[in-house]
Amino acid sequence: MSPETHLLASWIIAAKTTDNPRDCRLVTLAGLLPDADGLGLIVDLARGWLGAKQTQLYAQYHHFLLHGALGGVLIAVLLACFAQRPWRVALLALLVFHLHLLCDFVGSRGPSPEDLWPIFYLGPFDKDPMWIWKGQWRLDSWFNRYLTVGLLFWALWLPVRLGYSVVGVFNRRADHAVVSVLRKWHDAWAQRTHPLS
Ligand SMILES: [Zn+2]
Repeated sequence: MSPETHLLASWIIAAKTTDNPRDCRLVTLAGLLPDADGLGLIVDLARGWLGAKQTQLYAQYHHFLLHGALGGVLIAVLLACFAQRPWRVALLALLVFHLHLLCDFVGSRGPSPEDLWPIFYLGPFDKDPMWIWKGQWRLDSWFNRYLTVGLLFWALWLPVRLGYSVVGVFNRRADHAVVSVLRKWHDAWAQRTHPLS
């Protein structure tokens, strides 16, 4: 699925299962980092623009380097090193990582029906086993869009009580500003629906 869907789903799980902003951020990152193996796209595009010899790093390595067991273990261990509760973060990172694989497995197809993304669980060492599902739906399908919007509303609701939001994964200061706005909206909405409370 798209990075924003992975981000929101991972953050909601992290927000529900951790008890501090630092661990919440780390668990969320476990749902984003698998797609770091797609960053070769930047090199592919840059070389194309510069007229250099074309590379196929995205096609070769995306879904192959970090979308398997090795990627899961590396990401979980790396993130646990920075955690307040390392074991909890390692286990949750593995959970969120595998949710990422599942979401890619079911809903990341390209425009044509043959454009399926398989999962190579033993990548980058072996392309066997190759897990592929012919029912995989399109990345830009209506289901993925509605799912992302639903997750977004949930992710805007949780910070009112928690005191931190998905923005905190990237920037703490911006997070404070977002949370104070969300709390104001929440208070205004509560006043309107329950004026005497
Ligand atoms: Zn992915």
